[in-house]
Parts: sequence; C-alpha cells; structure tokens
Amino acid sequence: METVTLIGEMQSRAEELRRRGTTIGVVPTMGYLHDGHLSLVAQARKETDVVVTTLFVNPTQFGPGEDFERYPRDTERDKRLASQAGTDILFMPAADEMYPAGFKTYVFTEGLSTVLEGAFRPSHFRGVTTVVMKLFHIVKPHVAVFGQKDAQQAAIISRMVKDMNLDIRLIIAPIVRESDGLAMSSRNVYLSPEERKNAVALFRSLRFAEDAVRKGERAVETIRRGMEEILWNARVSAVDYIAFVRPETFEEVEKIDPPNILVALAVRFGKTRLIDNIVIPVS
Ligand code: AMP
Repeated sequence: METVTLIGEMQSRAEELRRRGTTIGVVPTMGYLHDGHLSLVAQARKETDVVVTTLFVNPTQFGPGEDFERYPRDTERDKRLASQAGTDILFMPAADEMYPAGFKTYVFTEGLSTVLEGAFRPSHFRGVTTVVMKLFHIVKPHVAVFGQKDAQQAAIISRMVKDMNLDIRLIIAPIVRESDGLAMSSRNVYLSPEERKNAVALFRSLRFAEDAVRKGERAVETIRRGMEEILWNARVSAVDYIAFVRPETFEEVEKIDPPNILVALAVRFGKTRLIDNIVIPVS
C-alpha cells in the first residue's frame, strides 16, 4: 500500500490511473478504522481496480464544543488495517493543505442538511459535503463507497451527486455491528464499560420498531413510545430524536406506509452521542 499526503500528488496518480483505463474506488473515512470501514474497503475492492482509502479528520464537519480535538486517532494502526483490507493508496492530506488560509467556498445541500442530525449539528453536513466534493476532485473516483450507518449523510451525498452531475457511482454498504448489535463506530471508545453494555439499547429499540411494523403497527407515536422506554431504561442521558422518515428525502411521516420506512435515532450517554438506524420494509 502506498501512502500519499499531498493533494497534487494524489491528483496526478489518479490522472495517470484513469489514462491507463484503471477504475478507481474511494472510501472516505476519518480513521480509527474498524470492521465497518473495512467492509467498505472490501466492497470497493470488488467493484474497482484500485482502492483509495482516505483518512482525514475533517475540521469543518465538527461544531464548536464537539469532539474534534479528542476524536480518536491512531495512524499506524489505520495503515496496517487499511492495507490488510485491500487498500492500494491511503490518502492522508494535511488540514492546512485542505483548508489553506483564505478558504471561502462550501458545498451545501439544502433541506436534507438541516433536519435531524443537521438540526442538532448545524454546520455538520456543510462540512461533510464540502470535504467529500473536494475528495472527489482529488481522487477522481469512478465509484465511492459510504456506509448506511450514517444514513442521512448517504442521502445527502446521493442528492449532491445527482444535483451536481458527478460522474461517480455511489454504493451504500450495510451497517456492520458488534456481536451484541451495537453499530460499530470510532466513537464507541468514548463509552464507559457500563455505557457500552447499555448501548445495545439503540439496536434493541430499532428491532422493537421492526417487530412492531411486522406485526402490523402503523402508528408512529405508539412505536416511538416503546422505543423511548427501551432507551430510557438503558439510562441514556438524552434522546435527541427518534425519527420515522422516507429513506431518500428524510421527510418525516406520521403514518407508516409501503414500501419502506427508515427509523433513525440519536441518543447521548453523558457527552457521547451515538446514532443508528434501520430500514424496515412495509407491505
Ligand atoms: P467515519 O470515519 O465515521 O467518517 O466513517 C467513514 C465511513 O464509514 C462512512 O461512510 C460511514 O458511514 C462508514 N461507517 C462507519 N461505521 C460503519 C459501520 N458500523 N458499518 C458500515 N459503515 C460504517
């Protein structure tokens, strides 16, 4: 595996690969890699000739008071894991090359970026769409792989790709979970042992919703109440939201209709904020 840090060098490598007819897949990450990230690398490996994993803790997607400084980092371990998973090029740009003095241009997807996660983290998605657009221009991928773990992010990036006519095929890969059901996340290391045990309640509450829908329940409020009870019993310190939305638009629904519904939630254990979601087919 090659490591590239300079933007210009990554662009010329990408240009050279494209000239030779080689297809490029990109997997954008903030590092501290886990099996969720590695599943995206494996997916990209299947789809393209060369896989570029990007590792960049993007300052513009963190709000004031969020965890940018303390976000977990372990570059040596990431290099080993990225390589083992089949990465050909690890692109690790420096923050001051990505955002030099005088940086003024942002990419913003309206509507979708201001609800749910966007309501709790007002500049978050502007940072995400901006850095992803920059990475697309630097890595020049044919295929980009993102995780369903960040369902709203996936919907926003799909929208951006369509709206900006980007010639990139998106793949949204399924959520990889720990054996007890907790969705893998770099932020899980913030949890105390007791919070870690209780955090299985996120997945449990989503399974509760899935069961309820399968048994014919169609009233959002009834299901939400059951989910809240599961979460509060697990001693969460806050439920930021439990939302029932259309998967592509993130419009909230009052009643559960076919063909499917996305249930997304965000909770806090102390200072640690966790998100999870499930897509439930509705017949
Ligand atoms: P992050 O490093 O948190 O920015 O995540 C980088 C990419 O990995 C994003 O596309 C995430 O949606 C994806 N990802 C994170 N956790 C998981 C998981 N548990 N399963 C699948 N994909 C994930």
